Amino acid sequence: MTVGWIVDSLIDRFNENYPVPDPGARPKRLLTCPYCKNSRVYETHYKLGAHIAECHSLLKPILLIGKNEPNYKEKINLKLEPHMLSIANVTSADVNIDGKIWKKISTGDLETILSETTGGQCVIKLINSKKELPHITERKYQFSIHISSEEKLNEIDRIFYETIVSKKDLTLKSVGNFLEKVNKLKINSEYSEGLCEYVSGIIIKERPESEKLSVIFSEHLNRYISALKKLSKFKSRPLAKIIVSIIRFSINQFPVNFDKTGFNKLDLAVNLIRDPKSVKIDQYKNLFSEEGRPVCPMDHGTTQLLNLATRVCQEERWTRILEEECRNTALSQTLGSKDKEKAFAIWGAGAVLKDQKSCAEEPLRKISAIYPFNEWVSPILESL
Ligand SMILES: [Zn+2]
Repeated sequence: MTVGWIVDSLIDRFNENYPVPDPGARPKRLLTCPYCKNSRVYETHYKLGAHIAECHSLLKPILLIGKNEPNYKEKINLKLEPHMLSIANVTSADVNIDGKIWKKISTGDLETILSETTGGQCVIKLINSKKELPHITERKYQFSIHISSEEKLNEIDRIFYETIVSKKDLTLKSVGNFLEKVNKLKINSEYSEGLCEYVSGIIIKERPESEKLSVIFSEHLNRYISALKKLSKFKSRPLAKIIVSIIRFSINQFPVNFDKTGFNKLDLAVNLIRDPKSVKIDQYKNLFSEEGRPVCPMDHGTTQLLNLATRVCQEERWTRILEEECRNTALSQTLGSKDKEKAFAIWGAGAVLKDQKSCAEEPLRKISAIYPFNEWVSPILESL
């Protein structure tokens, strides 16, 4: 009898007394939600995923001013009324004004604080911490609030008229004069900045010989777009509203719901380009008699196109002379490319308006692939 034999027989006897149990079928996996820890069991990963997506999606806090979401850093120059603010997915907020102590406030107070602050640096942390959410989501904004009073903005309008609009020529010096006078008012406003950018944009686009410009032609677009962003915030002011619409026309933005400005030539031109069949010329009856007081300068390219649109609508019939006028403008050497596109659009729309569809084909084909004209030119071309 060897030691090996003894061990083997011991193992045999052990195994006889304690047989390995049958493992049975694979147990069912229990899928439970890690976030709400409820007792509910989900049969498949898919069902658990659907539950998490439905109940525990991380919603970032949202703050809208007007209908726009502000940037992280934003200058606020217009008084915020509580109805302009929309807040969603926010459970609480922390606010810090001018570097003082952080205050924890409720959502309702946030609207009050934002609408009552007229000046200062306001840092806001919006928090979404519903208990069923896996994490707390936060969003921070840094607002620099400088609310200019209506009187001061009116004063800016007056200085703008005096130093720029009423002058015969448009120079960078007059822009400088405007800024100098506005600075004396001691207001830090995007309103005056927007007006300056608009006027310097015109100068860059027109490139008068008297000005020694070091910036390239296309820079005017940057100035226009920057002015557009700033002045859009002051839409309740007539001057800002008109300039915003002129800039949109100039950079070929034709909003679907165009809000009439009261500047007939512009309203008519937008109406003509956007939807020639809907132009009702009697709506613009003062157009040809009234020469209103100019409220802002306009670059010559835009002026020429507004005049062309007026001419096209004013004529009783579509004639070869009118067509020649349109062609000359559209093929002009001095107009910028965006203005030429508009000239083709006015030419085509004019022919459609006067029921000379065969004459509309040539100009409309030229812009049928160019945004935003392609949106409404293609259906017209198809119907020809
Ligand atoms: Zn859950």
